[in-house]
Amino acid sequence: MILIDGKKEAASLREELKKEVSELKAKYNKVPGLTVILIGDLTPSQIYVRNKEKSAKEVGLNSEVIKYPDSVEEITILNKIHELNQDDTVSGILVQLPLPKHINKKKVIEAILPQKDVDGFHPVNVGNLSSGYDSSVPCTPLGCYLLIKKIEPNLNGKKAVLVGRSNLNGKPMTQLLLKENCTVTITHSKTKDLKNECVKGDIIVAAVGIPELIKGDWVKKDAIVIDVGINKTEKGIVGDVDFREVSKHAKALTPVPGGVGPMTIACLLKNTVECFKKSI
Ligand code: NAD
Repeated sequence: MILIDGKKEAASLREELKKEVSELKAKYNKVPGLTVILIGDLTPSQIYVRNKEKSAKEVGLNSEVIKYPDSVEEITILNKIHELNQDDTVSGILVQLPLPKHINKKKVIEAILPQKDVDGFHPVNVGNLSSGYDSSVPCTPLGCYLLIKKIEPNLNGKKAVLVGRSNLNGKPMTQLLLKENCTVTITHSKTKDLKNECVKGDIIVAAVGIPELIKGDWVKKDAIVIDVGINKTEKGIVGDVDFREVSKHAKALTPVPGGVGPMTIACLLKNTVECFKKSI
């Protein structure tokens, strides 16, 4: 079985981006800038943002984190986004989710200029992605896609089973795999006989949030299995895939941690560089 090393792949993507950023700097005398807005003091969000900032600096991006307390008014955030939209030194804007309940997520996402939407959540980018046009692609599915392509460059005609239909993961993943001519089945919480769907997959992408849901005998021999899940359990962080069992069946499998997670951050940097290149 191939253990898909997300840490290694992410490091190599960051290395490529570092080189590209230094070439862009030499050519244009400026570098891409990423601004992250962090609201509140949720520990996981703070950790994610710290990692994003660290990685952005490592590849040579201008990186800024703007922090607000939980009590911040929605209008303050919207005004800040409008200001960043006009700022030429900012190539990408990311508002770390989840937001406090009194702030409307849809309004916030729609306030970000689609050209600076490094998360790929703006409806214009969602529409462009599903129409097959150029767009920012959400970072986690983009990372999954790059990992799958590393193992299997030609996905023509492959059967892909996506477990989970969220806007963040399952839906954009569908578009990426359709573009590669996969036959895509999207499963979710109301799917009947999930096992019977999974066993047909040459590729399985699990983004559910249920620890070790995908069992060994749900996976066809030689399938590529990508585990997006991050679940805190008594035995530590585990994915949505039963790693021990599935590793006996699959051709390739991502570990948790060390699989999709590092690629998500590297893809955020990639999206920032892409936004910068389109702006010059
Ligand atoms: P979500 O809650 O928005 O969506 C979960 C999806 O799973 C839904 O579409 C739901 O219908 C489906 N589902 C629920 N129960 C099911 C069942 N029994 N069978 C089949 N489908 C079922 O979650 P999300 O934001 O897409 O995140 C999913 C997981 O991925 C979480 O564990 C999250 O922490 C993790 N995640 C990881 C990264 C990363 O970088 N590795 C990024 C984002 C999310």
